[in-house]
Order: sequence, then structure tokens, then C-alpha cells
Amino acid sequence: MRCSGRRAGCRPATKALTAAFLFTAALAVVLVSGCGQPSPSGRMKVAVTTVPLADFAREVGGDLVEVETLIPPGASPHNFEPTAGQFAFLSEAGVFVMNGLELESWASDVVGKVGNEDLVEVKAADAVPHDRLIRAGDYGGDTDLTGPYDPHVWLDPTLASYQVDAIADGFARADPGNRATYKANAAAYKEKLAALDAELASRTSAFSSRSFVALHPAWTYLARRYGLDQAGVVEELPGKEPSGKQVRELVDEIKGRGIKVVFAEPQFSPRAAEAIAEESGARVLTLDPLGDPESPEVSTYVKMMQHDASVMEEAMR
Ligand SMILES: [Zn+2]
Repeated sequence: MRCSGRRAGCRPATKALTAAFLFTAALAVVLVSGCGQPSPSGRMKVAVTTVPLADFAREVGGDLVEVETLIPPGASPHNFEPTAGQFAFLSEAGVFVMNGLELESWASDVVGKVGNEDLVEVKAADAVPHDRLIRAGDYGGDTDLTGPYDPHVWLDPTLASYQVDAIADGFARADPGNRATYKANAAAYKEKLAALDAELASRTSAFSSRSFVALHPAWTYLARRYGLDQAGVVEELPGKEPSGKQVRELVDEIKGRGIKVVFAEPQFSPRAAEAIAEESGARVLTLDPLGDPESPEVSTYVKMMQHDASVMEEAMR
């Protein structure tokens, strides 16, 4: 039921009565939407941490969900603080989708503060089989990422499809009446991810140079999937500038192995990557691990992965 207070034939005797009615109606809407129920638009509110997961959530939820992305394009998920408006959205949300594996180490604090007892939490990377997770640091250097596992699973489309299933399960738990639709949407989208995987396998198989240096260890899963080698990283913890010793070691590594490219990322300053590239003779190109709905070439996850493949082709084919 939608109480707009403006139905034909609804003519209270005085303005005071009209005001009282509108106030009550507004209060009713606030109360109804306050516990994981459909929003005034009739759609289930879904809060999502990152841009790729928001894309998955829209694919799975279609018209049944209203998706709010907490971390704006261009920001890093590793260090983030939600706004007051986002706290309000979370307090009314049916589902909160995050990556997990401690990518969003700030998120558990947020859930505690919101106090929405009906909120279904989805840690999408928890659906990835354990034997397909990579221990943090196994990319060939030390890392102090916060969790024991590398969290960047979505950059392997075959692991992203587990995340899509996890999102469909979470939506079905919060809104059981639409379970079949969520499952069907997820199945259709996973077919697109399988096609993307085949495309990426074919494009990367043509690379003559298979090693690269990354700004931070985002590409571990992608590299493993397509037989590439993330030979080193500029910043072990995103945003942490490398020491002079680390810079010298990376420069030696790049020169010694004939590595042609250092991949910067739009979410972080390219300064350190540029300095290392300049000393070693490698190029700096930008790979995007998150995307941006407002930027046509990386507006969806699939487009972003295809764009990143094109950037890799520039340096490695
Ligand atoms: Zn990262």
C-alpha cells in the first residue's frame, strides 16, 4: 500500500488535518522502510561496498533492488569511511554486500553501528572454494594486507561467478518471494562471465611478454588464471610509498627480467610507479581493478575487464 495523501476524494476539512495526515503518512513510510522492507519505490534496498559488486548486484536484482554503492569510483576500498547518508541507507537496507577477506576491514564496525537487525550480510568472497584462494603475500613479495588471504578474487571472472551466486543467495534470504528471479538472473549473468573468461584466455594467450609489475597486489588471481606473472608490486600496502631499498630491488628485477610495464591504478597516485618506470625503462600504463559507471569504457565489470585486457595487450602482446 502506498499512502500518498493526494488521492482524489481525499478532502480533509482543514489545512491542519491535511498537514496531520501528511505527517502521519510520511511517518508510516519511514517506519515501514525502517526494517529491511521494500523502499518507497517498492524495491529492496541493497548497500554494496565496491563498484564491481554493485554491478553484480544490479545484474542479479534487476528491477527488484535499489543498489547504493558505498565506495565511490576512484576511491580505494582498503581505507574508507561511509557518509551519514550511507549509514541512513544501511539502516533501511535488506542486504549489505561486501567482498570480504578483509578487503573492507572497516565494514564490521559499520554494521555494528547501524544496528539493523534484519540486515542480511553477504561476504561474497566467502563463497569462493578455499582451495582457490591465494594466501596474501604469495604473489612474490611480502605484504601486510590485513587478512590472511588476498581479497582481489573478483578479477578472475571464474571466481567472480561464485560471488554472483552468493549475492543471489543473500537476496533470496532477504526476499524469499523473488528467489526464482534472483537465481535465474544470476545464471544468465554467469554465462556472460564464462564468455568473458574465454575471451580473456584467448587474448592473453597471445602475449609474448607475460610478466608485469603492479602498483599494489590487485592482479594475483587474474595472473594465475591466465598464466601471467605479477612479478612485483610497488606498494605492498596500498598508499604506502616504497622504501629506497624496495625501489632499487624492483628496478633491478624489471631490468634483469626484461619486464616491459608497470601497471598503475586510477585509485592511487602513480608517482612511485612512474619513478620506478623511469629508472628501469619500463612503461607505465593504467589498469583499473574497480571501474566507474560514469566512464563508458569501464562502466560495467565486463567492459572493465575487456578494457584492462586491451591495456595489457598494448604492453605485453
Ligand atoms: Zn586492492
